[in-house]
Parts: sequence; C-alpha cells; structure tokens
Amino acid sequence: MTNTPDAALAQPRLIERLITGLATSDGAGVKLTRVLTQDLQRRLDPFLMLDAFGSEKAGDYIGGFPDHPHRGFETITYMLEGRMRHRDSAGNEGLLGNGDVQWMTAGRGVIHSEMPEQEEGLMEGFQLWLNLPAKDKMCAPWYRDIPSAALPEYEKGGVKVRVIAGSSDGVAGAVQREGTLPLYLDIHLAPGALFEQALPDLHNAFFYVYRGKLQSGGIEVPAGRMAIMANDAGSDGLRLQALDEPTRVILVAGRPLHEPIAQYGPFVMNTQAELQQAVRDFQNGKLAAA
Ligand code: MN
Repeated sequence: MTNTPDAALAQPRLIERLITGLATSDGAGVKLTRVLTQDLQRRLDPFLMLDAFGSEKAGDYIGGFPDHPHRGFETITYMLEGRMRHRDSAGNEGLLGNGDVQWMTAGRGVIHSEMPEQEEGLMEGFQLWLNLPAKDKMCAPWYRDIPSAALPEYEKGGVKVRVIAGSSDGVAGAVQREGTLPLYLDIHLAPGALFEQALPDLHNAFFYVYRGKLQSGGIEVPAGRMAIMANDAGSDGLRLQALDEPTRVILVAGRPLHEPIAQYGPFVMNTQAELQQAVRDFQNGKLAAA
C-alpha cells in the first residue's frame, strides 16, 4: 500500500471488479466505448449506461446522432473536448463545447438530435444515463446546459474536482436529484495525489479512469478501465490515489431505485407493457406531444 498521509476515511470501500468497455457504434456510426453495459444495470442501479467517446478521426464521429427518441430516464453529456449541437422536440437548443455539461430529462418523451459541429480535431467526452423512479418516468421533459465556466469546482492537495452532480467536500454540484442522489465528479489528480469522497455504503459507485493511472485499495486501475466499488458494509467512502503521472477519472455514484428495469433501445421503463406503449406513442407521433 502507498502512504496515505491525508486520509480521513475510517473504512474506504474496495474495488469489486474492473471492467473493460465494449467497442461499439451508435447513432449514425459514431464509434464509442460502452463502459456501462446493459448487463450491469442491476449492479449499478440507478445508472443505465455510460458511453465514452474520443477520437481525432472525423469519420468516427461526423455522423452524429440524428433525431431519435427517449423516454423514462435522464441523459447527462459531459464534453471534454469538441463541439456538439443539441436540438429537441421541447424546443431546446444548445451548443456543447469544451468542458460543458448538458443534462436532459427525457421524462415522458423527447425527440432530439446530437450532432457534431466540427469537421476535424478531437471529440471526447461521456454520456451517462440516469434512471428515473417509476413515479417520475412520465414527468415533463427538462433540459439544462451548464457551461464549463459555471460548473462548480474546487482544488485541494493537488486535486481539482469538477462537481457535476451531488456534492464533494462541501461543494454543491450543478445539479441535485432527490431520491437517487446522484454524484458525478470529474477528478484531476497530480502525480501521487490522494482523493477521498464520503459515500453511504448502500449507494452504488463506479469510476472510469481516462488519463494516467491510479490505485485504490492497492489495486491499480489504468486509463480505459472502469472499477465497480464494493458496497462494503460500514464503509464510509472511497479513496483514490494517482500513481506517477497526472491522472483523470470520473466518479459516479447514487442510491439504487430497486425497481424493475425494462429497456428497449432508447426507452427505459418498468414493464414490457410500458415499453410497448412507448413504441406505439413514438410511431403515432405522441411520444413528444405537448
Ligand atoms: Mn440521445
């Protein structure tokens, strides 16, 4: 184990499992890595999907995501680098640039497009899907762009933390949600720097390293790997420490819903009947009707 002189947690949780994402494509041929796949939805409840995209080849992203529907959950897009324009059936439009976040609640239905507004250079970021509780799945759609400059962040001991959702070290994130209490952090660690986050033991948690390499509980996690953290009873948080290079990682956690999950493509409901209704509503032009 590495020294942890600034450690404050009494019992950090341990890594349960490392995951290598699945290389796939979605939308109109956008190449991406599906890090949180459908088979992990139960384990990582309330999160349904995490895609990591990152390419300097226009051919990997130029097709974008033309008009497509969603119902029953929220999508959170975090753009590390690049430009992507969003338009949706609720009349919202926004341009997502470097470091910006877009939070969209599909609720009862949104049809939107997510299209690159660049023809060359790097496009890199993440899209996370957060489930809605059954009682909120048919809520009115909601949308918010959070420009990078407005994203709450703090620096401490060689660590910069950008707080997208939830709160970290007393800093409230851009978005809060009751019920699932999502935490979404982008953490930049200097070589050797230590980061700790308090977290209830029943909340599901995972992190994805996208630069450098870190260790947690003595297990090394390189870039391109997701770690699922164990829900160790009595644990009070998690501890990450960068190894010998600058390291960047997103950390995601939340309180599980423990409700049935039924997914058909871009619709995530609780039952098959609700999925069939979503498909009918989409086909009949009622999915995104006011
Ligand atoms: Mn979408």
